[in-house]
Parts: sequence; C-alpha cells; structure tokens
Amino acid sequence: MIVIEKDLVNQMIEHARREEPKEACGILAGEAGEAGEGKVVKKVFECKNVDTSPFYAYTIGPEELLWKIDEIESSGLEVIGFYHSHPMGWERPSAVDVSRATWPGHSYVIVSLLEHVKISSWVWDEVTGRFIEEEIMQI
Ligand SMILES: [Zn+2]
Repeated sequence: MIVIEKDLVNQMIEHARREEPKEACGILAGEAGEAGEGKVVKKVFECKNVDTSPFYAYTIGPEELLWKIDEIESSGLEVIGFYHSHPMGWERPSAVDVSRATWPGHSYVIVSLLEHVKISSWVWDEVTGRFIEEEIMQI
C-alpha cells in the first residue's frame, strides 16, 4: 500500500492536465517504511519529459533525475517511486512502461486522463518482470 495526501494527488493530476497531450512525469519522495510497507509520499517533484515520443512514453533527463534525487535525499526523504500520466491510455502500465522499469520495489503511479481521471500504483517486481498493483490510500 502507498499513502498519498489528496493535495499531492491533485498536484499530479494538475501536472498531467497541463502537459496534455504529452505524458507528464515526476518523482515521489517520502518515507519507505519497513520492507516497502507503509510507504508514505511526502512530496511530489515534477520533472520534464524529455522522451522523443512524449505522447506515448516518458523519460526523465538523467541530469534532472540525479539532482532531484540529491535534493530529496538531502532533505531527509527517500525516493519512493515515480509517477507519469497516460493522456490517452488506461491506468495500467503500458508495454513501454514494462520494458523500461528499472527500480525494483518502487512504486509507479499512473494518472490516466482517458474518460475519467483515474490513478493507480504499481510495484515493479524484478524477479517476475511484472508490475503488481498496490492499493493507494488517499488521506
Ligand atoms: Zn506509461
């Protein structure tokens, strides 16, 4: 389960709408808790999508990723995971998302703008090469 404040969920949704029809992306920072349980997102860091196909995929520039991770860690938080939007897709990981997943045990939140706004969260399992859906608790 991942715990996210409603204000932070709204921040991700606003970011997704602002970038539409491109995918928006960012980093989730917070407290990881014991063995990945009780993850709490404390802050959302918007990033620039530098992918060459920004309508169907996202890439955070390596330099931006490094300095944002540095900022997160120096503020006493951890990287919990990432979020991105699907302006024209469902709230589950795409084939591209699966092929590019690189952070085992981390959460990948997806904001779908297709029809109604929906959010979901997925944990990358390196062993099976699959995303496993996790519950989001909005507080
Ligand atoms: Zn995606």
